[in-house]
Amino acid sequence: MNPPDYAVFGHPISHSLSPRIHAAFGKQTGIALNYVAIDAPAESFAAALARFAGDGGRGASVTLPLKQDAFRLCTQTSDFARRAGAVNSLTRIDGTWHGDNTDGPGLIRDLTGRHGLDLRARRTLLLGAGGAARAAAHALLDAGIGELFIVNRSPERADALADSIGLPKRVHTRYWDDLAGLGGFDLIVNATSAGVARETLRLPFGLVAPRALCYDLSYGSAAFGFLGWANAAARTARGSKALDGLGMLVEQAAESFAIWHGTRPETDPVHDLLRAELPLLATD
Ligand code: NDP
Repeated sequence: MNPPDYAVFGHPISHSLSPRIHAAFGKQTGIALNYVAIDAPAESFAAALARFAGDGGRGASVTLPLKQDAFRLCTQTSDFARRAGAVNSLTRIDGTWHGDNTDGPGLIRDLTGRHGLDLRARRTLLLGAGGAARAAAHALLDAGIGELFIVNRSPERADALADSIGLPKRVHTRYWDDLAGLGGFDLIVNATSAGVARETLRLPFGLVAPRALCYDLSYGSAAFGFLGWANAAARTARGSKALDGLGMLVEQAAESFAIWHGTRPETDPVHDLLRAELPLLATD
């Protein structure tokens, strides 16, 4: 087998679906590729990426917790990656890495394309201020949401994100303990990694407005805690619903595939295949 030409880096990484997704896209489009998962803790990521490039690596996805490190390792970055301060998609060009952020576009494509949601003017709560939250904040604001409230376990990171966005009339930060007094939201995005760490978020049901969407960026069992809370809240918040980030995962992968191979694959067949294996919690 030739050395891999594409890879996803992260830590932990063994459960990543990205190799399967990119293999399916390659098969669908008739593009031969060898895409593997490479386990890389933050301290050895730069060396692992350099080794991959030396062996002929042409493109890399980057996941938890390396997106801000990836940003620093790029010689050039896209406008959106610079605004987010995070890179999840690297392309080897003339011996250096070019960084993009496909998480933001992937999130919006899933919400508006697959699920047909109108995001405009939605009063939005963003939980988390890490790499994924940064991309989500910019993408959601670009898509026309209304006010954005950012709440993070470490409040200074929420403040840093809000400051970097620079829209003080539209973007606000609050402490976790303030959540009970914030009223209802039309869109609640969980961009924390609490579910991955099997930790539970303390969230009042009153956050969920009627017809709201509660969206967890994680998927599979990592999303069960948040989706369970959202489904319980739906008993009083009529018409609200809950989704996980599986669709975003497939869409961000398709965006990266398009950057690397010049053609955008069809995402629904791959999404539907994975959804059959990773069902959303039943809504009752
Ligand atoms: P980061 O490590 O950059 O950020 C993690 C965030 O979670 C921080 O805001 C952190 O807060 C917060 N957090 C962690 N544990 C807890 C907890 N117990 N309670 C409250 N907050 C907590 O990770 P990413 O931003 O890269 O990823 C976040 C999540 O999004 C992951 O689950 C990841 O799998 C998912 N994701 C999904 C994608 C998709 O395509 N569906 C794409 C990208 C990410 P603090 O600042 O205080 O540490």
